[in-house]
Amino acid sequence: MENGTIYLVGAGPGDPDLLTLRAARLIESARLIVHDGLVDPAILDMARPEAKLVSVAKKRARHTLQQDDINALLIREAKAGHDVVRLKGGDPFVFGRGGEEMEEAHAAGVRVEIVPGISAANGAAAASGIPLTHRDAASVVSFVAGQCKGLSDQDWSGLAGVGRTLVIYMGVKTAPQIAEKLMADGLAPDMPLAVVENACRPEMRVLRGPLAALPDLVEVEAVKSPALIIIGDVTARPNASVAEMLAEFVA
Ligand code: SAH
Repeated sequence: MENGTIYLVGAGPGDPDLLTLRAARLIESARLIVHDGLVDPAILDMARPEAKLVSVAKKRARHTLQQDDINALLIREAKAGHDVVRLKGGDPFVFGRGGEEMEEAHAAGVRVEIVPGISAANGAAAASGIPLTHRDAASVVSFVAGQCKGLSDQDWSGLAGVGRTLVIYMGVKTAPQIAEKLMADGLAPDMPLAVVENACRPEMRVLRGPLAALPDLVEVEAVKSPALIIIGDVTARPNASVAEMLAEFVA
């Protein structure tokens, strides 16, 4: 029997309208979908009623699968001849462990196809009216993980500052260490930033403040995951707030 294919599919930041056509077609025709917790329920609702949905959400309280078990599940199903749609929030190759799943599948001789998605940074930028680059404000943009192996060992020097935009994924819990780290690297305490919570979802919030106030902002506003921290002058441009007001008005 021929192996099935593993499709590593980006589900985008939330709104089903932000799926690629290829992702939507795969979701609508899938027999088996293995998905992360970040994937919006409205997207899972697009699956056929008889499709099997397996959640591998990485939440602490619930019983969840480890990465090795996820890899094993995908490969087992593909080797049994089934196509598998592995659905991930945002883009599978941006902090999504898509690279690991692809390598394991290839090592097992299973075909993989990657379907890109709109990453949270792009979704949050669009929804909040914050351009990630701007000829007057930033010509460099970097994506970093605020909560991964050895935050304090990561070298972010030069990634944030005048003319540069830094987008931090998974940074809510480590916000105090992040602010401290960036200021220790020489970033001005009044460097403007925005926190975009639940980008591209009805409950989206955009909060702003100077870098030094990041820990308080996160605590006082009780910011919850998923949220991005965007640091740089692009977050303080005048039309950003107009876009937000419009978004609120439309909502
Ligand atoms: N592959 C995903 C990222 C996975 S890491 C992507 O490309 O977007 C998970 C982190 O992504 C979250 O901790 C959060 O920082 C960010 N994130 C995902 N969806 C988000 C959303 N709708 N709004 C804000 N941040 C989001």
